[in-house]
Amino acid sequence: MTGSPPQGWPISPSFALARLRAGHHRFRTGAALVPAAPAGAPVAAVLSCADPQPEPMIVFGGADVFAVRAAGLSTGPAALGSLEYAVGHLGVPLVVVLGHTGCSLPPGSGPERVRATLAALRRRSAVLDQATRSGRCGLHGMVWHDAARTLAEVRPTASPAARHLGRLRPPNRASVRQS
Ligand SMILES: [Zn+2]
Repeated sequence: MTGSPPQGWPISPSFALARLRAGHHRFRTGAALVPAAPAGAPVAAVLSCADPQPEPMIVFGGADVFAVRAAGLSTGPAALGSLEYAVGHLGVPLVVVLGHTGCSLPPGSGPERVRATLAALRRRSAVLDQATRSGRCGLHGMVWHDAARTLAEVRPTASPAARHLGRLRPPNRASVRQS
């Protein structure tokens, strides 16, 4: 029998994601910001674009996030080093790549760019890949819709509906033209 978890017991990636979703619900409903007590590790590290847009702390209702901003979600050495510090040294349980629809940069920061960035983080960083592989840290994609001021989840792969359709109807030139 053990007692309650010690102070600063690491939280799970799914619990961290739930905290962010709850924080965004506060943002959406106009509830007052509830700044998290700065105890222990931040709930998540958030990589977002450097374009003007609300700070992740605001979008997530005052959640204690480790914010990293890079133009066009670039995974250059500065951004990668910051994320590795958050995960490897602070023990952050979740990395969120937060794109946005109104990106001013050529590659954009929409869902496809978010997926590519998530893959690049694991490919380019042994620290992030290992933390993800072990289940200690989650990787999650979201997109901020600048005009609607809403947040959407980014699925890791194409939607199940699209895959289903692909199985039922193999693409051919005729069907592509008609659709
Ligand atoms: Zn942008």
